Amino acid sequence: MAAVIALEHTRMRPGAVSSALIAWQNAALTGTADRARHLCMCDECTGHAPRWRLQQAPTWLPPWARPHLYGLVLPVDRSYLLRTVPCGPWSPESTWAWWQRRFTGT
Ligand SMILES: [Zn+2]
Repeated sequence: MAAVIALEHTRMRPGAVSSALIAWQNAALTGTADRARHLCMCDECTGHAPRWRLQQAPTWLPPWARPHLYGLVLPVDRSYLLRTVPCGPWSPESTWAWWQRRFTGT
């Protein structure tokens, strides 16, 4: 997608969006998001940092190009939502993103 490539070569770095998507998939999809089995709880390994990059990227894209990227992220988000449950309750002042407020529940 030309708009994403243009974005990667300006505000991000080449391959940043695709590598963020792969990292989010690895962290969020069945069999890999079990945080209990994560050896490393850093933002990269838990998926927080890549998901955050995927949150920021569309805001830098022209509006016509955003749905393309959402279309790639949405299926991963859906899988993550299906296999996690909300932690809670949360303070309204919490700055955690929605994906940080969920856990695998087992
Ligand atoms: Zn790590």
